[in-house]
Amino acid sequence: MKPVYIALSVIGLAGIILYRKQLKYAAQDAVTNVMGGDLTRNFSLSEFLRSDTADRLNATEQYNPPAGVVQNLKHLAEELQIIRDAFGKSMPVSSGYRCEVVNKAVGGVNSSAHLEGLAADINMGSKAGNKALYDFVAELVGQGKYSVDQLINENNYSWVHFGYKANRSSYRNQVFAA
Ligand SMILES: [Zn+2]
Repeated sequence: MKPVYIALSVIGLAGIILYRKQLKYAAQDAVTNVMGGDLTRNFSLSEFLRSDTADRLNATEQYNPPAGVVQNLKHLAEELQIIRDAFGKSMPVSSGYRCEVVNKAVGGVNSSAHLEGLAADINMGSKAGNKALYDFVAELVGQGKYSVDQLINENNYSWVHFGYKANRSSYRNQVFAA
């Protein structure tokens, strides 16, 4: 084989290796996007992490939750998706996960399910909208068609708190106003 062919072969081989490596990185990016993007059809991780309080306090840990919290948020999103599908309206998350700093700043209790990524506050944008959502879910729970740990009408329908446990069998089906 002439040296020029050997050189071309080496260049060609290197090209193939580089190309395959790029494909591998592209695949890894795709996986990262899925994990950082949609938890369910209508809920994404970012909306459960978003926090004006965290931004104000520069609490960067709010956006880097432990793996266990991310797992809980996935579970939370799946539970909320059931209601989202039945209710048929988008359910804006006003507060999802809260890191320690954020929870303290908003006056959350130490045992708050928000700390574990197992609670979300939903604000439909009006008290009437929040009442409609609360009544809808409360009725399903009353009929034994849906389970929740805590469904709370907060501050006269200012928002609706949905709380869960990592294990469904631990749900208490508590429905009340606070
Ligand atoms: Zn809450």
